[in-house]
Amino acid sequence: MPELNQVSWQQLDASHHLHPFTDSRALQQKGARVIERGEGVYLWDSQGQRILDGMAGLWCVNLGYGRQELIEAAHQQLQQLPYYNLFFQTTHPPAARLAATLAGILPGNMQHVFFTGSGSECNDTVVRMVRHFWAQQGQPKRQVIISRKNAYHGSTLAGASLGGMKPMHAQGGLPLPDMVHIDQPYYFAEGQGMTPHEFGLERAGQLEQKILELGPERIAAFIGEPIQGAGGVIIPPASYWPEIQRICKKYDILLVVDEVICGFGRTGHWFASEYYGLEPDLLCMAKGITSGYIPLGAVAVGERVAHTLIAGGEFFHGYTYSGHPVACAVAQANIEVMQQEHIIERVHDDIGPYLQQRWASLASHPLVGETRGLGLVAALELVADKATQARYSESAGAGMICREHSLEMGLVMRAVGDTMIISPPLVITHQQVDELIDKARQTLDLTLSTLN
Ligand code: PLP
Repeated sequence: MPELNQVSWQQLDASHHLHPFTDSRALQQKGARVIERGEGVYLWDSQGQRILDGMAGLWCVNLGYGRQELIEAAHQQLQQLPYYNLFFQTTHPPAARLAATLAGILPGNMQHVFFTGSGSECNDTVVRMVRHFWAQQGQPKRQVIISRKNAYHGSTLAGASLGGMKPMHAQGGLPLPDMVHIDQPYYFAEGQGMTPHEFGLERAGQLEQKILELGPERIAAFIGEPIQGAGGVIIPPASYWPEIQRICKKYDILLVVDEVICGFGRTGHWFASEYYGLEPDLLCMAKGITSGYIPLGAVAVGERVAHTLIAGGEFFHGYTYSGHPVACAVAQANIEVMQQEHIIERVHDDIGPYLQQRWASLASHPLVGETRGLGLVAALELVADKATQARYSESAGAGMICREHSLEMGLVMRAVGDTMIISPPLVITHQQVDELIDKARQTLDLTLSTLN
């Protein structure tokens, strides 16, 4: 196909491509933004604009764009063995090696992994695995999985059902049966009248209430993101996770931690479970496992569940691309680069605190009601009235206006309602953090003048 210019790409795209999570009607009018190239923390669009990728793609390009080590690992594996499956008692070196490498960095007593192609597939796997586990334990009635409102666990039927996104449930009759939701630990929006400590305990306490309401003998698992990402970087009060862990133990409920965003260094730890002192029975990972260079997911399985699964013989579950050799080779290279470059330590001790300190300086802006963050993930709340922290009306579209101004400024920030979020590549430099903050501040100024 000959080189096409920007308008042609947009026309082709609008004529034939149905996008994920996109307002297709608006896209038909405006045309899609065409991203052509990436290097380090920057992207270039077809108009030649350089954009600082404050979201690391979709929270995944942790090592930044253009890493030769990852490209070379894929190239070599494509030559050696581009595909083979892991069904029917077969393995290949990239899958076996990566499983062992992951066992070395996973929290607690997790020594086994089941490979998938994505985060959504991880969560489908979780549903099948926990129900199979309880059946093997002689408790087949344990079918219910408790999640949270405004959680995001993917877009497959099980992922969208476990997730607590109302607009997703509304399209297609979800959630599936036996997937129920309690309130989220979103202090800024829902914690009025309580201290963060009280609020954390109240929200975790809803888990116990739900277990008692439905009957502990019916509950299979609780699932949660350590920090809700797509819901708006919701960082629970410190009292929340210890209480959830205590309740899961009390009623012998499996704890499933969805680390699809938090895993691989985002919080300054390999996994946020370490930060929160969690002992998950199952842990989902994807995205940063390959820095997004190629699709891969994995469900880590704690010894109790793994032992039962192994003793149970065949688990009738798997994907053609479970543990794809090229994806496993890239993940292995990704982890090795992270180790060689001390990325976790860097996020924990250096660039994470620096970003958080600079991000917190935005709190003084008249449009900002709160800033929050951990490691290299952060959020700020847009408010109409700083004193009362009242929001703009939904029709004002403050978040969307802010997102558009941000792109004009050459910065990708994401809007979740009126919450602006960032999750930049873990290799971002101090100077690039300064650039990000300057652009964010100018974006807020522009947004304020548009809204007033
Ligand atoms: N779980 C969490 C916490 C996520 O943030 C996502 C995606 O953003 C998913 C699951 C779904 O992952 P995927 O889009 O790879 O299916």
